[in-house]
Amino acid sequence: MRFQRLAAVAAIATLAFSVAACGGDKDKGKDVVAKPTFAAGSTMDKLAKAGKVKVGTKFDQPGFGLKGLDGKPAGFDVEIAKLIAGELGISADNIEWVESPSKVREENIEQGKVDFVVATYTINEARKQRVDFAGPYYEAGQNLMVKKDDTSITGPDSFKDGAKKVCSVTGSTPATTIEKYVKDKASQLVLFDTYDKCRDALKSGQVDAVTTDNVILLGYISKDEASFKLAGTNFTKEPYGIGVKKGDNDFRAFINDTLDKIGKDGRYKKAWTSTAGKFAPEAPTLPTLNRY
Ligand code: GLU
Repeated sequence: MRFQRLAAVAAIATLAFSVAACGGDKDKGKDVVAKPTFAAGSTMDKLAKAGKVKVGTKFDQPGFGLKGLDGKPAGFDVEIAKLIAGELGISADNIEWVESPSKVREENIEQGKVDFVVATYTINEARKQRVDFAGPYYEAGQNLMVKKDDTSITGPDSFKDGAKKVCSVTGSTPATTIEKYVKDKASQLVLFDTYDKCRDALKSGQVDAVTTDNVILLGYISKDEASFKLAGTNFTKEPYGIGVKKGDNDFRAFINDTLDKIGKDGRYKKAWTSTAGKFAPEAPTLPTLNRY
């Protein structure tokens, strides 16, 4: 009797599991194009034939790319990358995620450690010397995060008197921009390789502020509203692009076409609302693509 009951429970559990697995498979299939064809020799053709792709993203940024307990990153950038892979006929399971903090994004692309980068990656001329960008697919802006009870920092000008310390990440645009506002770089600007280290330094009082894009900071605030808040308004424009190897114009055009497609069919919006849209401002519409 006892055995029978156990067997029944096990059978129901198995059934529930396979139903869930089926649902999962169906979901997966939706965004993965079956056997797409591309011009022979193109990056798209090579990736589609290989059936796998290496994507550079962040692992420490809630809402954009945050590594979960399952070892896989989640967030808006991750969803965008999955949609691009799907158009290549590659399912999410066949994406190899390569952590790509700000400083190593260009070299990861140049050295072929990744096939493309989706990592809160601002498009700018200096970076375009080394890599090319599809997009933009989002526009953020630099801001400051401070302790919840801090009223002394109200914007980047608050660092001009030389008293306050601000943390950012090596190789990021906010680290360069904030240099213009601090009185003494050596004593006021603290740089780490990832933003989670800046967040920890702020929490423990080693620095007075963290500076980077508003949406990255909002991600941290959403995880610890009792400790942190934004200080002031955005003071730069940070258009996010998808980094590819310099000169790979066909791949860049393909990614732009994919962005255009997902912008129109609602998948771009869905990617946002299911990730960063949970805490960040209004849902964006896809910015005008810069097909240079
Ligand atoms: N969007 C800025 C950048 O690309 C800051 C965010 C980051 O470091 O990823 O440098």
